[in-house]
Amino acid sequence: DLEHPLENQIYEELVPLLESLDRRNKEKEEAEKIRREFSANVSHELKTPLTSISGYAELMERGMVKKEDVERFSGRIYHEARRLITLIHDMMKLSHLDEGGSEMEKEPVDLMEIAKETAERLKPLADRKGITLEVLGETAAFTGIRMVLEEMLFNLCENAIKYNREGGKVTVLTGSSEEELFLQVKDTGIGIREEDQERVFERFYRVDKSRSKESGGTGLGLSIVKHGALVHEGRICLQSREGTGTRIRITFPKNK
Ligand code: ADP
Repeated sequence: DLEHPLENQIYEELVPLLESLDRRNKEKEEAEKIRREFSANVSHELKTPLTSISGYAELMERGMVKKEDVERFSGRIYHEARRLITLIHDMMKLSHLDEGGSEMEKEPVDLMEIAKETAERLKPLADRKGITLEVLGETAAFTGIRMVLEEMLFNLCENAIKYNREGGKVTVLTGSSEEELFLQVKDTGIGIREEDQERVFERFYRVDKSRSKESGGTGLGLSIVKHGALVHEGRICLQSREGTGTRIRITFPKNK
């Protein structure tokens, strides 16, 4: 409206401002919701193994367990206690990354070397399922947080084995171009449905709860990967087909 130039101008400046305020409010609400869900999940995840532990222990204490069952019961208690420890470790790693990830010490590392060490550590797990685990590619020198990168590669490779078929294959690839470095883990496993592909990076999200638990999963592995990528300004790309396999590639900008 040409008759009210000033009002037009104010309006034009105000609208984007209000819109951005609205957006920020929505983001805040979203973050708050995620936080609430997270605490509810944490309580549940801690309570489940603790309930089993106290249940089994109570039966034993009251002498209600037959002699031949004692070993099985103490085995369950041990298993659930290990589960709690893993869970607490994973939660500590996440909160560490959340709070001060970007302030952790960066140092020169080689992604291929870390990939090789990771493969070495996971070989027994792969062997048990008859899975071939190979590291290909070239050296990829990078300035990053070694501990975090190790954790990321470990989680990706462990998943690639856990969610694979007997006799399957896992290929780790590292490399670099002029501008970027990448690491990639590819498997011949069960794959991830399209509608789950975004969600698997959420805390405690599992496609198949029982399968994840059976293999000792906490549902936090990929959130750690996501946060680890974030503190290195990396991008994650996931490609997957149900029944065929999954490929996760993380690309980092080269630090000059
Ligand atoms: P978990 O401890 O359950 O493995 P993650 O956060 O590492 O937790 O992964 C979340 C979920 O994503 C898993 O429970 C599994 O359903 C799915 N997933 C992760 N990696 C793969 C993979 N390579 N192939 C198929 N499914 C996967």
